[in-house]
Amino acid sequence: MQAIRSTNTKPELAVRQLVHSAGLRYRVHFPPLAGLRRRADLVFTKQRVAVFIDGCFWHGCLEHHHDVATNSQYWSPKLLGNRERDRDTTSKLEAAGWIVLRYWEHQQPAEVADDIERNVRSIRGFDNLRNAIGR
Ligand SMILES: [Zn+2]
Repeated sequence: MQAIRSTNTKPELAVRQLVHSAGLRYRVHFPPLAGLRRRADLVFTKQRVAVFIDGCFWHGCLEHHHDVATNSQYWSPKLLGNRERDRDTTSKLEAAGWIVLRYWEHQQPAEVADDIERNVRSIRGFDNLRNAIGR
């Protein structure tokens, strides 16, 4: 399964680039919660926003998963485990006061980036932060 990457995929890189050009700064592949050994794809530590761009294959997107899962007998338990883990990660982060944004890699990078930007900018404290650094 070397052909199917789970990090640094093309859509993820495109989204990161767009969000960066919009002037937002974030950590990449960073664990939002100390003690929870799970990384988000983009992490806005000040605003407490964790973004996951889920691969259609690894995370079982209903639109595209079946196109690539040729050996579903073998992959199903692993994929179900991934989905379960995704839900668990989301609920642990939300319980700790984080906003969790999840997207599929098949979504248009521009739409995903806009949505991320809107969410991050809507968080209280972001404008104060911008004033503090004089932008
Ligand atoms: Zn998909």
